[in-house]
Amino acid sequence: MSENPTPKPVPRPNGDTQPFWDACNEERLVYQSCQSCGHAQFYPRSACVKCESTDLAWQEAKPAGTVHTFTIVNRAPSPAFRGDVPYVLALIDLADGFRMMMNVVDCDPADVAIGKPVRIVYEQRDGQKVPQATLAR
Ligand SMILES: [Zn+2]
Repeated sequence: MSENPTPKPVPRPNGDTQPFWDACNEERLVYQSCQSCGHAQFYPRSACVKCESTDLAWQEAKPAGTVHTFTIVNRAPSPAFRGDVPYVLALIDLADGFRMMMNVVDCDPADVAIGKPVRIVYEQRDGQKVPQATLAR
């Protein structure tokens, strides 16, 4: 396979998401915990989606979860992903009670199944580490 000349997109943090992306660069997964109602919130926002409190605290998540659902991408959505197909796009239920969309990497897509345990790994893009899942062994 030849080198992929098109870089993958890099997240652009905003005021709400900067702490999340900074933690990713330290290979730590964090989420917002509502101090009023206890809701575990992802993605980061300025207020709790359950009770509208702005009293949110960052918590470090266990880097583990399970596959909620997934699809196998066979046709790259842009040239940046041509080198990756076929790849798995999944919704992952994290052990701390929130859900994230990410790729399941470093595996045979045929081995991915709903309910399988995963752990979090980080993909280095230009200046930013991006959380991904891989099948737990
Ligand atoms: Zn709340």
